[in-house]
Parts: sequence; structure tokens; C-alpha cells
Amino acid sequence: ESSIGIESTLKAVFLPFVSKSHLLFMVDMARLFAMHNVDVTIITTPANATHFQTSIDRDSSRGRAIRTHLVKFPQIPGLPLGLESVDAETPKDISSKIYQGLFLLKDNFQQLFRDMKPDFIVTDMFYPWSVDTAAELGIPRLNCTGGSYFSHAARNSIEQFAPHVNVGSDYESFLLPGLPHKVEMTRSQLSDWVNERSNDFGNIMKMIKDADRRSYGSLFRSFYELEGTYEEHYQRVTGTRSWSLGPVSLWVNQDDFDKANRGNAKEKEENGVLKWLDSKEDNSVVYVSFGSMNKFPISQHIEIAHALEDSGYDFIWVVKKTEEGEEYGVLEEFEKRVKESNKGYLIWDWAPQLVILEHSAVGAVVTHCGWNTTLESVYMGLPMVTWPLFAEQFYNEKLLVNVLKIGVSIGAKEWKNWNAYGDKVVKREDIGKAIALLMGGGEECLEIRKRVNELSDAAKKTIKVGGSSHTNLKELLEELKSFKHQKVNHQMEGEV
Ligand code: UDP
Repeated sequence: ESSIGIESTLKAVFLPFVSKSHLLFMVDMARLFAMHNVDVTIITTPANATHFQTSIDRDSSRGRAIRTHLVKFPQIPGLPLGLESVDAETPKDISSKIYQGLFLLKDNFQQLFRDMKPDFIVTDMFYPWSVDTAAELGIPRLNCTGGSYFSHAARNSIEQFAPHVNVGSDYESFLLPGLPHKVEMTRSQLSDWVNERSNDFGNIMKMIKDADRRSYGSLFRSFYELEGTYEEHYQRVTGTRSWSLGPVSLWVNQDDFDKANRGNAKEKEENGVLKWLDSKEDNSVVYVSFGSMNKFPISQHIEIAHALEDSGYDFIWVVKKTEEGEEYGVLEEFEKRVKESNKGYLIWDWAPQLVILEHSAVGAVVTHCGWNTTLESVYMGLPMVTWPLFAEQFYNEKLLVNVLKIGVSIGAKEWKNWNAYGDKVVKREDIGKAIALLMGGGEECLEIRKRVNELSDAAKKTIKVGGSSHTNLKELLEELKSFKHQKVNHQMEGEV
């Protein structure tokens, strides 16, 4: 580290999105920069801050220059006080009111960027307008993007070559042209906004892509050893710059307290579940979770319950109540039964996922292929049963199953919207088959475990001094410093 005075400390402002999923990865990213001597301010609203403020307080007590700047959420008719975040349990009419409020906040955010005079800003992909504010201020905007490089490559292939248009049915496979590997998908696995010509969300995604192109570059939570081929492919095809800084959540959440409290998980939950895990053999427990955004109908929950009970393996299952008045009694009965037999542990709403995945008793993960959970599982050396549902998760599944070969597919056929229940129910037999394959100890399963363990070693190395993500961060910070110095020099020349 060069010795740097206060005036040469980089000052950054981070603006995360208002859903727990995007919020948490962006806060991790902000904390990563603060960990490397950047002065960081995170702008958010009070209810969103409750999801992460403890981590920020701990970082600042560690001597890091990081703080939260709160902006009051606007009052919107019909929006109950304190509802400021769009998650699985947020009803649709409430989400649209939250978006309205967020739209009203845009001017405030822009003014804050002007007042705070940062050297660069890092904003969520869902704030494409921020690229213009950065241009006005003459500073870089770094885009904090979602998903894997692979998912961007797959989407680009579909947009460029439209291979889905020429198939006879929604279930006929087509090849994704131009990718380094042979990957096939069906139209039913693509998002509605890719399939439909005119779609509001599709138009937003076009604006986001355009803003990505005009940004200084994008920050990815991936790492070179995981999908370097696709990192290079992405940079070549899009002509944009990007930095792989992952896995970020494990880089910044290194002590037990940080891990246990991420996302404001309740401590008593952690004590209970860790004690339960302590009583289990190594690699004997299946962890089942579908992230922060998913909605399942009760009929799907029942299939999962049967599959888990019939599998014979011990399990932890994170269950979300997403509908008022929905009949969850069956699950409460199930919970009682598996608690008595000591076979299973249900966590309602939010689990301390990092400490659970880290426990040696956990042997596999059933996941919706959310990119954060994927990276966390890889880091912990855990193979995955892949059950994609929405967003870019079907692409992530292809990466895990076909390219990296560290996952077993449940055979999900239908993309759905994150806030919809969907009409397809995956049957208990299919869930059971995939779990048995991964937990059964056969040859295929041993190969999968070997591969994921190699990637786990790479994930741990990449964030240490000399590792590729570590080097990427150092280089990016050096570059941002020289950008700042050039700007200051220009300003001084202008004044002379
Ligand atoms: N998470 C958690 N507890 C939960 C559910 C999720 O800590 O009960 C964390 C998880 O560790 C991950 C993130 O929230 O970092 C979920 O991100 P992912 O991309 O897997 O799914 P999403 O919520 O975006 O669909």
C-alpha cells in the first residue's frame, strides 16, 4: 500500500436497490471497498437499512470509513409506513407503490451525488439514469450488476441470434449460438420479456444494457477460475469493461458474527440450527432454500415436504409464508413431525445461510440457482440440486450442470415471474431423484464433489493477496485513483 493522505483517499457513494436480494450483495460490495481503504457512503431508506446496519456499525468500529446516509421514503397513498423493500412477501399492489416512491426519490439521489462530491459512484443495475448523473459530475459510474457472466453471454446469444424463434414448440430444444460450450435450452425456460416483442420489463432491460455500455464498467461477483472463459466472452461481445471481485459475501463476512447476522437473521435461530447441525454427521444434511424473492403455492410446498421426508436424508428447509390467509397448517404439522423424529429443521422466513452452509454437516444444497447462493455453495464446496425459477436462473443452471458439472438438475421446465406462483408443480419423485443422486455416493456424485471442491479451493484463494479477484480490486482502485488525480490536475490547469 502506498502511503496516502486524506486528500488522496478515494470517496465513493453506493446506491443499492430496494429489494433484499440486490441490497445485500451491493452492501457487501460497499463493505469490500471500505475494507480496502475507500471512504464509503451507502444511500438508502430507513426500512432498507434495518437489513444491514449492524454490519456497517461493526465495520466502522473496526476503523473503516463507512456509513449509511438515510433518505426518508416518500408517503404514497395506500402504502403502509415502513414498507420500502420488494421481496417475496410483498404483495403486487404494494410493490408498484414502492416503485412509485422510488421514482420520486430519483431527484433526491441525484442531488445527494452532487452534494457529496464522490470520486466515483457504484449504483445498482436498476438505476440506469445514474450514468448521466456521473457524466454530469465527470466521475465514473460503476454498475453493480446481477448474475453470472454466463447468464449475460446466454442472453446476448439469444438477443443476437434469436434461436428460440425457429423452434416448433415451447419445449423443443435449441442451441445457443456463439457460446464457448454447447448449451441447449427451450423457449419455456426463457423470461417472458425475451419471448415477447413488446414488454415493459424488456424495455427497462434495454435501458439498463444501454447504461451498462455508457458506464465506466461493471462489477461482477464472479471470479476468474469459475467462469473466466465467459468473462472474456462477455468483454469481447459487449465491448465493455468489467471486474470480477467475487465471491464478495464470503470476502467481507469473515467472522462468525458477520456471517450469522447477514440480512438481519435472528440470533436465536442460528443457535438452534447450529446446535442441531452439530448433532449430525459430516455431509449428511441437505439445505433447501429458494432465496429472498420466490413464491411457491402450498401444493408445491407439499411436494417438497414429501420428497424430503421420503428421501431419508436429514434436511434444513427455509420456508416463506408469502400469502395472507394461505393454508400453512399442513406445513406446521410436518414441522412438528420432523422435529420429533429429528430428521428435519424448518426455518421460517430468513435463515443465517452463510453459517449453515459453512457447517461440515451440510452435504448438498437444493437451490433456485440465485447467483449469490450459487457462489456461496461453490465457496463451501457444496454440490447443488438445481431448480431454477425466474430471472436469469435457468442460465445459471446450464452453467452449473452443463459447463461446470457441479449440479444435478431437477428438470424444471418453466420460467415464471418472481412475483407469480406459476402453474407447474415439480413432483416429489423428481425432487427425490435429484437429491438421491447427489447424496447417494455413487460415481457421478463423487466426480461432482471432486469438481466442486476444486472450485471451492480456487474461490478461497482468489480473494487472498495474489489471487485474481484480489488483484482485480487493487488494479481497479489504482485506476480510480489516477482518474481522480487527472481530474484534479485538469481542474487546476483550468484555474491557472
Ligand atoms: N439469504 C439468507 N437467508 C435466507 C435467504 C437468503 O441469508 O433465508 C441470502 C443468501 O445467503 C444470499 C442471498 O440472500 O446471499 C440470496 O441471493 P440469491 O441470489 O441466492 O437469491 P435471490 O434472493 O436474489 O433470489
